[in-house]
Amino acid sequence: RASAGEEANYPRWVRVNALKSTVEEQLETTFSKHTRAESIQDIVTKSGRHIYIDPHVPNLLAISAGMDFAKVEAYTSGKIILQDKASCFPAYLLDPRSEDGDVIDACSAPGNKTTHLAAILYQHRPEFEDAPQTIYAFEKDSRRAQTLEKMVKIAGSKSVTRIGFGQDFLQVDPTSEKYKDVGALLLDPSCSGSGIVGRDSMPELHLPDPPTDNRGDDDGVETVVKSEKDLEARLEALSSFQLTLLLHAFRFPRAKKITYSTCSVHSQENERVVIRALASDIAKAKGWRILRREDQVSGLRDWPVRGVVEAAEGDETVAEGCIRSYKGDGHGVMGFFVAGFVRDSV
Ligand code: SAM
Repeated sequence: RASAGEEANYPRWVRVNALKSTVEEQLETTFSKHTRAESIQDIVTKSGRHIYIDPHVPNLLAISAGMDFAKVEAYTSGKIILQDKASCFPAYLLDPRSEDGDVIDACSAPGNKTTHLAAILYQHRPEFEDAPQTIYAFEKDSRRAQTLEKMVKIAGSKSVTRIGFGQDFLQVDPTSEKYKDVGALLLDPSCSGSGIVGRDSMPELHLPDPPTDNRGDDDGVETVVKSEKDLEARLEALSSFQLTLLLHAFRFPRAKKITYSTCSVHSQENERVVIRALASDIAKAKGWRILRREDQVSGLRDWPVRGVVEAAEGDETVAEGCIRSYKGDGHGVMGFFVAGFVRDSV
């Protein structure tokens, strides 16, 4: 395969789970033998064990590859979670606060972003044990929902999370009494996965990749695409599903914040979906607009890689509001896309 060995150019990204530990504690214990690196480049080029504190996402570390996490206590006890840097962007961008009320994670398994949401809620409100807030985590595939349940338990976010086993988010009634306090939604739907490290943007006759820890965003499904025409058809089907999901999220009566993300590099699934969503009747009727770069959390406002202006139909505000990453561009992260939507009144 064209991308074999690609993983070697990437660090291991480690999110310290604020529910169970701190960066300081992890530097003193799990990573006490690691030397502090000056840059992400040092992590992939220097030999030996190095560690780098990420400047964009809070509680995120990059370490040299090669550590066997299966035997690491902090990993097996949920103090640290292996999660690519870009995969940490959506929950960080959503930035749920107590005033936002309940939160929905529409497409949750295996649960990287669900547990990240819980950690952010906890950091804003440490008396979390009796938290009045709930994270509703839906997962259509019941088998994958079991993995989600395990992860939520290990990460210590069980008390705040309600899992919708086998529940299709599109079947959830936004006007139901149960969801009346939902103020924030995270949408991380199935996508082509073209940004995943170790996978081509146009996979040919690939067998499904064996799971590895940093691939939390993967759907577990890799569709074989044999031609350019096949790829176009697949992207069309995916983007129509992604748009439907986004328009469904716009309907929650008290929602004021939404993030939409993919691990795809194709603009059909990214800026194009955002543009179509913003042009929809429901977006206009409910007052949804793009979360502008200047209104984003500091680490993502500072992130340099933004949306593609042409794909956003020349709208520079939308393109600047979109956050991207590309494999192999020196940042050490997977290919990814995220955009936020907000509205002022409900
Ligand atoms: N957010 C997850 C994480 O960070 O660990 C990764 C999500 S993965 C990209 C997409 C997930 O959405 C898959 O597990 C898939 O089964 C689920 N899914 C797809 N369509 C769905 C729907 N309509 N409702 C709920 N879940 C859905």
